[in-house]
Amino acid sequence: MTQSETDSQAAVTLEVSGDGVAWIVFDNHESRPNILTRATMEGLSRLLDEVVTGASAGRIRALVIRSGKDGSFIAGADINEFGGVTTAAEGAAGARAGQQLYLRIDRMPIPVIAAIDGICLGGGTEMALACDYRIASDRPETKIGLPEVRLGILPGFGGTTRLPRLIGNKAALDLILTGSNADARKALKVGLIDERVHPAVLYDRAHAAAIELVAGKLQNVKSKPLLNRFLDDTGPGRKVLLSQAKKKVVKETRGKYPAPLAILDVIDESHGRPIEEALDIEAGALGRLIVTPESRNLVHVFQLMEAAKKAGAHGVKPHEVQRAAVVGAGVMGGGIAQLFATRGIVVRMKDIRADALSNGLRHAQELFDKQIKRRKMTKREAHQQMDRIAPVLDYNGFRLVDVVVEAVIERMDVKKQVLREVESACGDHTIIATNTSSLSVSEMQSVLSRPANFCGMHFFNPVHKMPLVEVVRGEQSSDESVATIFALAKRLDKIPVIVKDGPGFLVNRVLAPYLNEAGWLLSDGASIEEIDGALLDFGMPMGPLRLLDEVGLDVARHAGTSMAEAFGQRLTAPPTILSLEASKLLGRKGGKGFYSYADDEPEVNQDIYQMLGASVPQQRRTISRSDIETRAVFAMINEAARVLEDGIVAGPGDIDIAMITGTGFPPFRGGLLRYADSIGM
Ligand code: NAD
Repeated sequence: MTQSETDSQAAVTLEVSGDGVAWIVFDNHESRPNILTRATMEGLSRLLDEVVTGASAGRIRALVIRSGKDGSFIAGADINEFGGVTTAAEGAAGARAGQQLYLRIDRMPIPVIAAIDGICLGGGTEMALACDYRIASDRPETKIGLPEVRLGILPGFGGTTRLPRLIGNKAALDLILTGSNADARKALKVGLIDERVHPAVLYDRAHAAAIELVAGKLQNVKSKPLLNRFLDDTGPGRKVLLSQAKKKVVKETRGKYPAPLAILDVIDESHGRPIEEALDIEAGALGRLIVTPESRNLVHVFQLMEAAKKAGAHGVKPHEVQRAAVVGAGVMGGGIAQLFATRGIVVRMKDIRADALSNGLRHAQELFDKQIKRRKMTKREAHQQMDRIAPVLDYNGFRLVDVVVEAVIERMDVKKQVLREVESACGDHTIIATNTSSLSVSEMQSVLSRPANFCGMHFFNPVHKMPLVEVVRGEQSSDESVATIFALAKRLDKIPVIVKDGPGFLVNRVLAPYLNEAGWLLSDGASIEEIDGALLDFGMPMGPLRLLDEVGLDVARHAGTSMAEAFGQRLTAPPTILSLEASKLLGRKGGKGFYSYADDEPEVNQDIYQMLGASVPQQRRTISRSDIETRAVFAMINEAARVLEDGIVAGPGDIDIAMITGTGFPPFRGGLLRYADSIGM
């Protein structure tokens, strides 16, 4: 092979093999995945010039595009460059520049093949779409997708135009509107790639395919199912598909996210037009989207998340965790044990009741079954992972475990007793963490003989779904304990946020005044529909009264009382919530609360106003949506400011991440404190 150009800044090189197959190889040395920075795109442009020259001179017969990194193709555009775009015109111009470059790939006089190994996202996928033929390696790391919608934009380097033309509107919308990835198997099924091969032979196969394409012996295989052909190729079919997709988007986002709606418009408007016109429509839409506050906020959240994923805990080396134990096999314990098992950690699950252990195991098995059903793992893999969970009624074997997570009932006396037992059963090296959601970590620590080895590891319910873990630093917790639990949370694919011990830690403390305010709004005469509706409109995933039902009205009352004890008047429980005690309503788990859960779709429990008696006015009175929103959301903002003042977290970014990942605070608002900043003092 001869190497004709290397551009270290551009991180892209060209090699030509003896038989005239050119290879463009992406391999930047500074960052882990290949990113399409401005410099890389310029480098690519220069290499395409060379390929064209080589092709017209007859030296180059075909081109293969690949990555030099094992298991990582191209992760997309450089998101840090988004911030520099200040107008829609600039955004559109940026998109057009990328499109022009990819049009050159599309119009190469020789066959062009993408050989995809590993993660292939955004601009990487769009580059592959501009090629004549796509081959991907069949390995778990290979994931092909267009995640732009998650950043509030659309694929603007030709992806919104080319993907529907390649695989049909229906399959394309499934990917573009959700921003989800396809593995090699799915990509082949929908026609996004032409072949999937074992990673060991990917580049040999790409080479052979290049020669076959030159000889005219290979063609793209693509056959759309009949229904998809109707939905894509006929006017009425297309209209039905797009209007259904729009209804779904509006329902799921309450119209708060402009990008998916713009994607549908672009696909509708550009249908049947020549590619240049379609690309122009796409570029215009990208320009308009990239400067919206929604996109700016989503990019901000993305950057916060990336920073959180990279963060370590104060440069302290964490202990390695191979064996773990979970004490308490309830709702949380079962979920935590299952999560450990999925990450290769052998885990003992201890309870005092055999029936609780059976329930914990069943819970874990159900989670595995769901993954099998969704084809996320095979039965065999699930079986192997399930085998890692050992149900036990005593502390045998605890001496060898590296970490114990305590998840017994929420009572200080019980926790202290259990933690003392656990500590005496474990080795000196074992780090013990409590999953308490409301009790003092420092107080629990005070009864231990190795208090430094103890801290909090607060998961949220349901464990397998909620990304946040609060790592709680007690007064005597060592940096090593905190670092170990932090690293463990990351290994479990969670987003850990370190918080100082204090009532409600971070998320529950900020949420408490918000839930309280919902009770006060009820006392002031607003209806359940108005209160929850206003906050759903704001973008919360569920209204506060519905959330109280989910938490359980008894649990919420109990938590509310301890918050009021800790913080005094500003968290005094409203009479509405207190007067519900006599009603014995429990919320969802009891079938009734603010809503009635008899049917699939919960309905407002209209009898509740009567049960609330004198704590609500006889006549409902309308409080405006904006007043409801302001009262509830500002209560959270004020508490978040106090959390910062009290030094519970390191900075405002931690609060923003924790509220998004722990409560579903709307990402398009960029986080609670970023939203506060957007309003100003
Ligand atoms: P749960 O009632 O479902 O389970 C508690 C389990 O602990 C039961 O199986 C019980 O038999 C067992 N247990 C009691 N005493 C024990 C002992 N001495 N030794 C071993 N096991 C014992 O409770 P849960 O909802 O899983 O909550 C567990 C912990 O997690 C609590 O501290 C709770 O505050 C916290 N938490 C709960 C949630 C939630 O939404 N459920 C969320 C975050 C944190």
